Amino acid sequence: MSTSLAEAYAIRQWWVRSRPNRPWPSARLPGSNPAKVRSRPLRLHPSSSASWRPSLLPRYHHPVTDFTDEGLILDTLNYRDRDLLLSVLTPHYGVVRGVFRRARGGRAPRAAAAQLLSQVRCSIHQHPSADMASFRDIDPILSSFGLTTDLKKTTVAAAVAELLLVFCPQGEPASRRYRLGVAILNALLGDVSPDGALAYTQLWLLKLSGFLPPLDSCSNCGAQFTDSAVISSLGEGLHCQDCAPSGPSLGRHDLDVLQSWIQAPPSGISCDPPPALSRWLDRISQDAAERRLKALHFHRRHGAT
Ligand SMILES: [Zn+2]
Repeated sequence: MSTSLAEAYAIRQWWVRSRPNRPWPSARLPGSNPAKVRSRPLRLHPSSSASWRPSLLPRYHHPVTDFTDEGLILDTLNYRDRDLLLSVLTPHYGVVRGVFRRARGGRAPRAAAAQLLSQVRCSIHQHPSADMASFRDIDPILSSFGLTTDLKKTTVAAAVAELLLVFCPQGEPASRRYRLGVAILNALLGDVSPDGALAYTQLWLLKLSGFLPPLDSCSNCGAQFTDSAVISSLGEGLHCQDCAPSGPSLGRHDLDVLQSWIQAPPSGISCDPPPALSRWLDRISQDAAERRLKALHFHRRHGAT
């Protein structure tokens, strides 16, 4: 019995089990007489000599996926007259890209719920053979509208959304990255250092993606840091004084702050990170992303003052 025939047999067994009152749909077998086959069920028993083709499956066997999930709006782009193209980070399906039809215009534009970095609940239709999903509806859970009164927080929110978009794979569950994004949104809406929240996001996304070098030992020789760590041109990691005698350094306090961010939520970040630390995180993020991070660059140039 060939594998495909075994699969077909299993499908039929499942059909009979789950729908005892409905007969297996008839179909025409290749090379057979359609006049005789029309009233005869498809023969799929292992003893059958019929050759099996997947195309014989009725069309309604193809899965069409409708699902509802929470999400963070990571990117929006106007499309056609009234549509929006959206990239949404969901905890269970990763980044979902799709069209939100009839989102703009009208008396109550639905696009109002799709602000950058807003937390929403969305109903999504994703056909397996389609590249783009279709957003049926989007309801706000926590809007990022409160950030628009602060230029620095607005540019940080855009940079955070860009980082999440770059470091989250499409179609894979991303619950930890989603929780990180929601925690950062809550922190930014509260009283937190925007640059600290951005550095926290970079640190955690690098850690979750496997790009974060050791924070307690030299990346070159493995020696434990005692007082300070040097950011040198030797590589992306931190180095000891013996391996890198010159270069900007992170003091003991900065290293302790980095370690504490690994254990604590972002709501407690009250002070800006040292400039050397921000530059180092920017460099690693940029190299890991393998593309220019436009929103991050914009924040460093225009939003940081
Ligand atoms: Zn070393």
